[in-house]
Amino acid sequence: MRKKYVVVTGWVISGIGKWVTTACAGFFLAERFGVTPIKLDGYLNIDPWTMNPFEHGEVFVLADGAEVDMDFGHYERFLWNESMGVQSISMGKIYAGILEKERRGDFLWKTVQMIPHVTDHICERIEQVFSQVGGDVCLIEVGGTVGDIEVELYLEAIRQMKRHKRKEDFIHIHLTYVPIPGWVDEQKTKPTQQSINLLQSKWLFPEIIIARWKEELTQESREKIALFSNLREERVFSIPDVASVYTIPSILEKQSFDSLLEGKLNTWFEKARKTQIWEELLSKEKKTKMTVGIIWKYMALEDSYSSVVAALEHVSMQLGLDIEILFLDTREGDVVEQLSALDACIIPGGFWNTGIENMLSTIRYVRENKIPCLGICLGMQLMIIEFCRNILNIPRANSLEFDEHCHPYDVITLLEDQKELIQLWGTMRLWKQSTLLDDWQIYNLYKKTSRLQKGAQIYERFRHRYEVNPLYADKIEHAWLKISGRSKRQQIVQCIEMDPSIHPYFVGTQAHPELTSRLEDPAPLFLWLMESTMK
Ligand code: GLN
Repeated sequence: MRKKYVVVTGWVISGIGKWVTTACAGFFLAERFGVTPIKLDGYLNIDPWTMNPFEHGEVFVLADGAEVDMDFGHYERFLWNESMGVQSISMGKIYAGILEKERRGDFLWKTVQMIPHVTDHICERIEQVFSQVGGDVCLIEVGGTVGDIEVELYLEAIRQMKRHKRKEDFIHIHLTYVPIPGWVDEQKTKPTQQSINLLQSKWLFPEIIIARWKEELTQESREKIALFSNLREERVFSIPDVASVYTIPSILEKQSFDSLLEGKLNTWFEKARKTQIWEELLSKEKKTKMTVGIIWKYMALEDSYSSVVAALEHVSMQLGLDIEILFLDTREGDVVEQLSALDACIIPGGFWNTGIENMLSTIRYVRENKIPCLGICLGMQLMIIEFCRNILNIPRANSLEFDEHCHPYDVITLLEDQKELIQLWGTMRLWKQSTLLDDWQIYNLYKKTSRLQKGAQIYERFRHRYEVNPLYADKIEHAWLKISGRSKRQQIVQCIEMDPSIHPYFVGTQAHPELTSRLEDPAPLFLWLMESTMK
């Protein structure tokens, strides 16, 4: 089969769901083809590692250890495949590449210019990544919005790429926003018309328009948009606001989006099996209401914990639970008073010492009051500190991350291979790592899934610099806090769990199980957390 390309651009404002459009196009195609998503970001950072999670949301870790934009989390959840770091392309990477070529003398005697040199480099990069990763369909999401100076070169590169492809091998989908301002009672298509004009002035003619607004697109708006974009009405789609993003494939399927993709790409695929599986899960009645606290220390932005929220959504569908999430911010003060309202609690990952003492008093409360609690990465490290301080009587127990002078009470200490590091970028303990499980509860839980591999091993993704101090591990293995998982080679503590006769669910992991949770295959530790609230 000849390679196919699907490009998604967006307009008016960010945050209207470009990723969901990209992921949905991939969702249908992935039923039959290998789909390779590529994200083109306009920023000059090489990758999102150095960016504030408040501005850009969570840093997602891929199986190859790359730290990428959280959109890749969404792609993986919709496409059922794993991405690689090379699929995340930033302007920083593009410029670094072009300057390297220039220094190497690749452009000797030439003036290096935005067009054609940088645009050629973008096209080459896309093709090179596509062939390196493999797959039949390359799904390209252009970050930002049309008209942003940062994405100009990407759009020009897309125009040039399209020139060399056959019509049936290339689709451009344009996502737009069709608002109803508060003072009128009519959907306004003018911004969409203008964006189409803008794209046309760049010789880009989208073949599919998807309109976003709270409600469905009206017939009148659909006609207007079709007229201005020189398309038939069937090529204009509507995605209204929905309670769950997982319903969007079936919303698009009802409008025959999948048939249009088939026709336009001159191919065929079966009705997506996944839509049926997802529809069944989504139609489960959510009988029991549960309140889950996420004890956080970043700004009030849900996106900072996007995968944790997604994993809870997956579990709520599987178990038929109506989960309300309470974000409890520990930066300003103690949140203990709000904890009695919780059915379960998650202490997620994080960095540095803000809010730490308040997170520790939260852990003490949920431990003593037997509220099911899952500690993730930093969360597990805090569970250990709290346990050492209040049960093992080591009042000065701490992490070197929060107090660099806490030695010899550094029950959480710097990983051995981090001690000599100066460069911070990409040097955390990343990747998909193996954990050897002891024959305890977590082991029995994973045993029920296909995630347990030969020799009682599981593979999860990691992102950390500190670990449980090996000198304390024996002391911590107190009668009722079991270290039940360690890394295969270095014996780093990866899982802890409390004796179930003492606490219904007090579990910590150094891994990030939320990153590999899927609607149809929720992360086992999240599933177990919520199951234990139902007992
Ligand atoms: N800050 C801790 C560390 O570096 C935990 C990291 C995390 O939660 N991702 O080890």
